[in-house]
Amino acid sequence: MKRTIVEVLLALGLIGAGVFGWMNWKEVQTVKGQAVELKAASEEAAKQTATSQGAVAAAEEQSAALKAQLAPLQAKVNQLEAIKAAMASGTTLADLEAAYKSQKSLSAERQVGLGALRMMTKGDDDPAALEAFRAALKLTDLGNRKNTMCAAQIALAAAGDKVAVMSECQPEAAHGPADTAAKSDAHGQPAAHGSNEKGKTKDAVAHAAPHWGYSGEMGPDRWGKEFPTCAKGKSQSPLDIVGPFVKARTSVSADYKEGPLTILNNGHTIQVNVPPGSKLRIDAKPYELLQFHFHRPSEERVEGKPMSMVVHFVHKSADGKLVVLGVLLKEGNENPGIKALWANMPRKEGPEVTPEGVKFNPGSLLPREFDFFSYEGSLTTPPCTEGVRFFILKSTVNVSAAQVADFPFDANARPVQSRNGREIITN
Ligand SMILES: [Zn+2]
Repeated sequence: MKRTIVEVLLALGLIGAGVFGWMNWKEVQTVKGQAVELKAASEEAAKQTATSQGAVAAAEEQSAALKAQLAPLQAKVNQLEAIKAAMASGTTLADLEAAYKSQKSLSAERQVGLGALRMMTKGDDDPAALEAFRAALKLTDLGNRKNTMCAAQIALAAAGDKVAVMSECQPEAAHGPADTAAKSDAHGQPAAHGSNEKGKTKDAVAHAAPHWGYSGEMGPDRWGKEFPTCAKGKSQSPLDIVGPFVKARTSVSADYKEGPLTILNNGHTIQVNVPPGSKLRIDAKPYELLQFHFHRPSEERVEGKPMSMVVHFVHKSADGKLVVLGVLLKEGNENPGIKALWANMPRKEGPEVTPEGVKFNPGSLLPREFDFFSYEGSLTTPPCTEGVRFFILKSTVNVSAAQVADFPFDANARPVQSRNGREIITN
């Protein structure tokens, strides 16, 4: 368009010049100069036009890409709007309360969800609802609670609510496209029997990566900034196991079952999520095995010395008590159980995989003897929640140097923590 205008101007100028020159021959040189100027102006304008056409094309491309990104988000916003509308009417709450009434015991997570729903539906001035919600929050694991809060904040923000999203819920570009919901499963969220509720919030949680690692800015000495218990807790794990010990008659036995292998790389460790049915018994009280995972080198030390690696088997009793069984791996012969796991582990961070036809028995990683050291400790990863009983077996199992080298994490062990007068018992 610009080019046409300039061309018309140029033509007019030349015609004008011709007429002018015909009328006044003396002015011909000046007119020629004007023509040259006009031609230069025309060329410049043409160049600019080309540039702006390029810019327009780029902008159009960008806007098309943005539109493509927005389409699936819009679907989610619509879904959320529908959920909000359903909740506002109170029927969702009534339905859920009725559905949950038939269950004997309600998980803490469901109680929290129900409490939140009750408050959103009935308002937050019902003291009984508030009290129930607080009690349920207390029961729930901190990691879960944070994920739930992040999911809610992110979902509300996406739907256009003016809600401040906590910094630890912000998407973390450096973590890449991996499933960070699985990441927080390591210890922070020990419930590993993949429930449907978890699946539902996974999309939102996937962008709520907690921000911690094993070195530098995100290293263990900085965990306390975002997760206060990690710095302020008085019974943190792991420990350096040194005497004096207190003798106890506690009996520990494992009844682990073979099942389909579900394994993931959560960016902090390799973790196996165990199907229901495997149990640890402590004085006959059963603790369900949820998951197990590895640290290199071992987090626990015995008289100051770490082993090549450790397996942490994470269990939970029906009343919510967590127990970790630690099996130290000592460099030696190849371990057939680890061979099977390493053959199926994802080398890059990502969601859990269940390779077809692969079965695994966690019992294959246990030593025969169950003599132990035991103490009260905490999760060894953020949020470092306390109230976790540790049993570290005295017998080690073998792992070959090549298998240690093949583990995708060079160093994922929290340093030993202050004992603060805690008893270490032994059988
Ligand atoms: Zn661990």
